[in-house]
Amino acid sequence: MCGIVGYVGNDDNCVRVLINGLKRLDYRGYDSSGIAYFNNGKFNIIKEEGKLTNLISKVNLDSKSNIGIGHTRWATHGAANKQNAHPHKMGKFTIVHNGIIENYDELKKDLIKKGYKFKSDTDTEVISALLDYLYSKENDVLKVVQKLNFFLKGSYALGILCDDDKDALYALKKNSPLIIGVSDGKNYIASDVPAILNKTKKYVALEDDCYAKITKDDVKIFKDGKNLDLNVKEFEYDDASISKQGYEHFMLKEINEQPEVFKKTTNPYLKNNFEWLLKKMPDFTKYKCIRIVACGSATHAGLIGKQMIEKYANCEVNVETASEFRYRKQFLKDDELVIVISQSGETADTLEALKIAKDNGNDTLGIINEKGSTIAREAKMVLYTEAGKEIAVATTKAYSAQVAMLSLIALNLSLKKDLIDKKEIKELLKDVKKIPDYMQELLSNKELYRKIANDIKDYNDVFFIGREVDYALAQEGSLKLKEISYTHSEAYAAGELKHGTISLIDEGTPVVAIVTDDEIAPKTISNIKEVKSRGAHVIGITNDSCSDASDYYDELIKIPKVNDLFQPLLAIIPLQMIAYELAKLKGCNIDKPKNLAKSVTVE
Ligand code: GLU
Repeated sequence: MCGIVGYVGNDDNCVRVLINGLKRLDYRGYDSSGIAYFNNGKFNIIKEEGKLTNLISKVNLDSKSNIGIGHTRWATHGAANKQNAHPHKMGKFTIVHNGIIENYDELKKDLIKKGYKFKSDTDTEVISALLDYLYSKENDVLKVVQKLNFFLKGSYALGILCDDDKDALYALKKNSPLIIGVSDGKNYIASDVPAILNKTKKYVALEDDCYAKITKDDVKIFKDGKNLDLNVKEFEYDDASISKQGYEHFMLKEINEQPEVFKKTTNPYLKNNFEWLLKKMPDFTKYKCIRIVACGSATHAGLIGKQMIEKYANCEVNVETASEFRYRKQFLKDDELVIVISQSGETADTLEALKIAKDNGNDTLGIINEKGSTIAREAKMVLYTEAGKEIAVATTKAYSAQVAMLSLIALNLSLKKDLIDKKEIKELLKDVKKIPDYMQELLSNKELYRKIANDIKDYNDVFFIGREVDYALAQEGSLKLKEISYTHSEAYAAGELKHGTISLIDEGTPVVAIVTDDEIAPKTISNIKEVKSRGAHVIGITNDSCSDASDYYDELIKIPKVNDLFQPLLAIIPLQMIAYELAKLKGCNIDKPKNLAKSVTVE
């Protein structure tokens, strides 16, 4: 989940490089950290529980070293304490690991029988013992790393050091991301490029089952004993794009980037009266139905996509959570397209869902933000969102870029099937031009969002209600609030309340009602009246085309009316901002909420 960084080079500032890299990986979320570096004839290990500052206070940044590895841990096996923090050393091997070893228990039992004694509860320590054992039989680190891959089940990105080879850093990867950063006389490993972006923009993405031997002047990658060609790529973002640029939080910066992200994601398709939309997207008309599989906010984007594709393109769409999809009967039809959505392109459950769909012979499409990520490489077709690097753990701009991309797919299909009339197309194009300004307008209502946050801050539960597309928005609004402000909230299809949940509505209970679809608005407004008459404090998010219910709203956020296809991109902004302001009022760690990690690369 969280982070790995490693360095080998002719500069002896390894400790600084590792600490700096870990700081830069900090956004991924972690609970302990550690480093190992060669100095004074041995690999020294320093690790600490909690924040990186705890580790830094124990480290001499000026220690001279030319090789080492560092880690931020997001505990999966064993408590988040110093003992379980990485690196782990057994015999001659010191390692850092991201991922989960599923068969660690049987391996551990076996290694205990062979005389190994374990100090931690982690699955990772088992890997270091196994390496040491294999090495005792065959004195060749590279061969041992190759063999390791046959023994381990699960997910692993590994940085490996051996006492007998203090000039080389070894790496192995399966189902967890790992890149190798390359530059003159200095090479790196890292979970992602930003960790080392101040050092190099050039990198090689390690593929599953590949392993590497990295020295200061050389990088060699292997698979099954065969030396592979190096496919060196250049990272497209620069260092400035991963700084806060004056904003108090990355999340606020990213919310504010949405007008630009919208333009960047939609412009390439909406030039020349949709000519490019038809040309640049694959032909979806051959699919009878679509299955969208994703996790978290990406699932909520998928739920909006379902509404749009069904309404505009008359094509059945079902949305599933990847962690459920992968373990049940999928009932995929031959002519069903499987769309997987992931910001990072590394989400473990989504990747697995993609593999299942591929094995079943279905066509797959990835909607991905990170170029060249595993899902982007594995999917048959890929459409990239142009959200840029997203640092805050809770997604905002990547989510809205996913929604925009799904709306474009709906429009593409609708045009190809001749289901949208010329007049609507004209109006829609006009709206698209106005959306960035409308977003900007909504972003400027800070005072209102702050006031609403203040009104709800003392309540333990908040309800979000809406119907159809507004229900999908309610789900995302509720998730944002929970993720970053730690306030419990629930999203309900507005018509469902009276079947149970309305019993929880009391005097003052905050209910955020999203009413943006004029066709269904009267129905939602009836539900608003029901909660209002039971004492709810209603915060309405609506537009002028929906029936007026001002008498029932305690607070009203008016959003500009645009074509339904793009309306959710405006409605989401107040929801993100309310969550942000509430988290700020409550003093929460907005960019790195507790227990969460940015890209969930374990299941
Ligand atoms: N499973 C390992 C542990 O719990 C690695 C977790 C991680 O990816 O940080 O230590």
